[in-house]
Amino acid sequence: MKSAVLTIIILFTSFLIGMSQEKNATRVIAHRGAWKNTGAPENSIAALQHAINLNCYGSEFDVHLSADSVPFVLHDHSIQGIHIEKTNATDLKKIKLANGESLPTLEEYLLAGKGQNKTRLILEVKSSSISKERSLTLTKKCVELVTQTGVTAITDYIAFDFDVCLQVKKLNPKAHVQYLSGDKNPEDLSAAGLDGFDYHFSVLNRNQNWLAEAHKLKLSTNAWTVNDEENMRWLMDQKIDMITTNEPEKLLKLVK
Ligand code: MG
Repeated sequence: MKSAVLTIIILFTSFLIGMSQEKNATRVIAHRGAWKNTGAPENSIAALQHAINLNCYGSEFDVHLSADSVPFVLHDHSIQGIHIEKTNATDLKKIKLANGESLPTLEEYLLAGKGQNKTRLILEVKSSSISKERSLTLTKKCVELVTQTGVTAITDYIAFDFDVCLQVKKLNPKAHVQYLSGDKNPEDLSAAGLDGFDYHFSVLNRNQNWLAEAHKLKLSTNAWTVNDEENMRWLMDQKIDMITTNEPEKLLKLVK
């Protein structure tokens, strides 16, 4: 009887330790999906699906606005010599990625990520190369499409433009928004009502107290784009919440 009770206590304690480790483990975000080791093009729906199959916490992707105000998923401002912001959706839809996929609209991308809840959709609202007004129009379209496609509960936002971050919070106060540019300290972000930062790891190297300060302020912390084991370990040692990487497979092994 005694040994049965002891076994139960040991099992329960191990369960609690396991839970706390799970809670504290750094979460893995695949930067532009899982493309590097899978051969899928960056920001393709295939790269998103690979990130989901890997059980990543999140899969990041970038969004631009077509000339006729349709959001498309792509990192650069142009593809195959075609400038997204200066081209209409009908023509953009004809573009093929290297794996044969059509250049995805944001709507198609969000629908591809729907129906699962293990991998969050990390939506980066890109800054317009034309005007601030277009950046804000894109922001509004993104929040609308996330709502319309029914993926609000699994979508988070990131942006380099501080006004875009504020606009997302204004449109959906419950949205989780991290700022990317690295020029604001945790206190400023907290005062502005944002949820956290996603800064280049060199910014966190220069400002060694920011991770601890952010934790105190209950801000979420994330770093991009961390591909080498040394920096991954350095950030994990400081209890960063998330790491965005082109090497999700490598980081997944480290956080285990
Ligand atoms: Mg991005």
